[in-house]
Amino acid sequence: MFSPSILEGENWEMLCSSHMGTQGNYERSKRMTAVAFTPGAEARRVVRQLLAESAETGHRQVLAQQLCDALCDDAAIDIINRVTISDANQYHRKRGGRTVFKQYGYYQPRTRYLYITNRTAVRGQLLAHKAFLDTLLHEWMHHYDGVRLGLDSVHTSGFYSRLNALAAALGVRD
Ligand SMILES: [Zn+2]
Repeated sequence: MFSPSILEGENWEMLCSSHMGTQGNYERSKRMTAVAFTPGAEARRVVRQLLAESAETGHRQVLAQQLCDALCDDAAIDIINRVTISDANQYHRKRGGRTVFKQYGYYQPRTRYLYITNRTAVRGQLLAHKAFLDTLLHEWMHHYDGVRLGLDSVHTSGFYSRLNALAAALGVRD
């Protein structure tokens, strides 16, 4: 079977190994620092809209869905089953009056479900354009990791390199 990982310098012995333990997963994730596709015109158009247009949740729901679908097309993978942009505030926990944990969104690999909250934790303001896009691309990358790379997606340095490469290709980073 063709594996896209080969495009990213994956070691063939690793691919053939039937004992891909947690350590192997972590090392593979860390080693892959680029994405093996180029975002197309549709994805770049939606990103430009997300950076310029209304931050309102209903509008972002439509555009986020379009961006996820376009990126999956570009990467030649199945689309995400459900993308939900919620008007709720970000989930957070406080300790001693200080915010110690915030969750912007998540991706559930088993059901292929992506969820993002569109409002800040305490004041309930709409997320800034770049914060929203960073979160969306972050969760989309978990989908890519699982479906295209066959990884149990974890936050390695490789994960963040892939994310930066994608964001740069989309013009999200300055
Ligand atoms: Zn994550």
